[in-house]
Amino acid sequence: MKRKKVGLGKLNNMNCIFCKIIEGSIPSKKIFENDELIAFHDIHPIDKVHFLITPKKHIENLISCNEADKEIISNMLLLAPKLAKEQGLQGFRTMINSGAEGGQEVFHMHFHVYGGSSKLAKI
Ligand code: AMP
Ligand code: ZN
Repeated sequence: MKRKKVGLGKLNNMNCIFCKIIEGSIPSKKIFENDELIAFHDIHPIDKVHFLITPKKHIENLISCNEADKEIISNMLLLAPKLAKEQGLQGFRTMINSGAEGGQEVFHMHFHVYGGSSKLAKI
C-alpha cells in the first residue's frame, strides 16, 4: 500500500509566524535546516550571537510536548552546541520560554541560543 505523504501544510499552523518562516513566506537569516528542524538568527538579538532552534512541526511549547516529542527535543538540544560553534561561540546560554507566564511570545516552540559578549547575568 502506498503511504500518504504528510506535507508541511498538514503539520503547520499558517497563523503562526514561525510556520511562515519554515514555509518560506517570511524571510529569515537561516543557519540550519533539515527535515525536522530549522535554526535562524533572532530578529532582536540580545547578545552578539542569538539564534533560535525550532521544529518544523508546529508544537506550541514544552508544556504541550509529550513522549512522542522526545526525539525532537533531544535533537534540538544536541544541535545547539554544533551551531554555536559554527557561529564562533566558545560557550553559550540556552533559554526556553514556555507559556505566557514563562515569557513566551511566539507560540511555536523554540530554543534560544545566545552568547558572545561576556555579559551574561549570573543566575
Ligand atoms: P519568545 O519570547 O521565547 O517567544 O521569543 C520569541 C523570539 O522570536 C523573540 O526573541 C523575537 O525577537 C523572535 N522573533 C520574532 N519574530 C521573528 C522573526 N520574524 N525572525 C526572527 N526572530 C523573530
Ligand atoms: Zn508554528
